[in-house]
Amino acid sequence: MKYDVIIAGGGASGMTAAITAARRGCSVLVLERMDRPGKKILATGNGRCNLTNSYLDQDCYRGEKPGFPYSMLEVFGAAETLDFFQSMGMLTTDLGGYYYPASMQASTVVDTLTGKMRQLGVHIKTGTEVKKIQKIKDTFHVTCGTEKYQGRNVILAAGGMAQEKLGSNGSGYALAKAVGHTVTDVFPALVALESEEKFFQHLAGVRNVSALSVYVNGQKTAEQTGEVQFAKYGISGIPVFQVSRYAIDALRKKKKVEVILNLMPEQFTLKELMDYFRKVGYYKTAEEFLQGFLNKKLAFTVLSRLKIRPEKSAADLTQKELRQIRSMIQKFPVPVSGYKGFDMAQVTAGGVSVREVIEGTLESKIHRGLYFAGELLDVDGTCGGYNLQWAFTSGYIAGNQIEAENQ
Ligand SMILES: Cc1cc2nc3c(=O)[nH]c(=O)nc-3n(C[C@H](O)[C@H](O)[C@H](O)COP(=O)(O)OP(=O)(O)OC[C@H]3O[C@@H](n4cnc5c(N)ncnc54)[C@H](O)[C@@H]3O)c2cc1C
Repeated sequence: MKYDVIIAGGGASGMTAAITAARRGCSVLVLERMDRPGKKILATGNGRCNLTNSYLDQDCYRGEKPGFPYSMLEVFGAAETLDFFQSMGMLTTDLGGYYYPASMQASTVVDTLTGKMRQLGVHIKTGTEVKKIQKIKDTFHVTCGTEKYQGRNVILAAGGMAQEKLGSNGSGYALAKAVGHTVTDVFPALVALESEEKFFQHLAGVRNVSALSVYVNGQKTAEQTGEVQFAKYGISGIPVFQVSRYAIDALRKKKKVEVILNLMPEQFTLKELMDYFRKVGYYKTAEEFLQGFLNKKLAFTVLSRLKIRPEKSAADLTQKELRQIRSMIQKFPVPVSGYKGFDMAQVTAGGVSVREVIEGTLESKIHRGLYFAGELLDVDGTCGGYNLQWAFTSGYIAGNQIEAENQ
């Protein structure tokens, strides 16, 4: 049998492409290397699956051509995604612009997509890793071990390299390269940053709402505010994930990266607060005085970085020391030496170069009938539903290009 389309990868983008093409009357084969489709979706949003977001601006996506996804998001964006799921009998919940399945269970998203594929007669082969794609005349020959399949079109939707245990192992890049496509530098994104500073040993476990700025060679390149999580190795948490791409990109180019944390971003009158607290707390030690407004471990670290004895009397702190404390609280420097790997990352930065892919159809500029979808492409979104949204958008766009042969 020659399928109208063979889809390599049964993740969010591959399943969306399969449903879209099958709804157009196409014969569809999905090849998935894991024992079931959509394994990664199950892990998203802490098991709740943050599938899209109503907010969108030019900073939501990154890549060699950060503007690439936007014309396609206009065709199939958040509203269309919600309609798509509703058309399959799944309701969503809006939590301040962040959308989840109404069940608040990622498994509902997987069940909805797999159920629809089955109802539409999509052939799904699990435990089947695509090893080779070859185009001979007008036919794609897809090899998976000893099995071979033929298709008039192929959609490569094999994902990136983040968290191999959930399916995507980078084999999509090799498949793309083998048919002549360029793959840009790939590296983990939405991931924690490492620092060699000794004080992190003491700070492990602390969570603190902070404003965070990334400086590359002394130049501010990104900023975010949110709950920063301190760990033995460095810093983590959503605001760190959001800026990690900029820090990692710079580290890979051997540039100096420093994160500056404002540990009390809401406090615009810190001087007045400290003057008052020192007056009413004249009998306290310096450490106790700082604990009045700062996490205990952070208070200790601020003092020890300034070489001020924690047991020193608050009343004896000099004006210079008070200035230094204020500055350390509002500009807490973290030299960044590294970053966590793909096993901890939520997404892959880089991928199949979008310069070789037609914007608006996602067809290869090299081979007619070959399409790309999802994280495999050099498009990565910020936290908040943007990566799944890109998977749904690109899956829909690619699937919607496929014509059924017998129509
Ligand atoms: C822990 C975690 C939490 C996340 N949370 C969110 C979130 O809440 N919101 C959000 O928007 N994004 C989130 N993401 C990111 C999001 O899950 C991915 O960007 C998205 O799933 C990518 O979809 P995809 O279809 O491109 O790739 P994948 O979902 O990775 O699917 C690719 C599929 O292809 C299969 N495959 C790979 N190679 C082959 C091959 N050679 N042959 C056959 N099959 C192959 C894989 O097994 C996999 O099933 C999260 C990611 C992680 C890791």
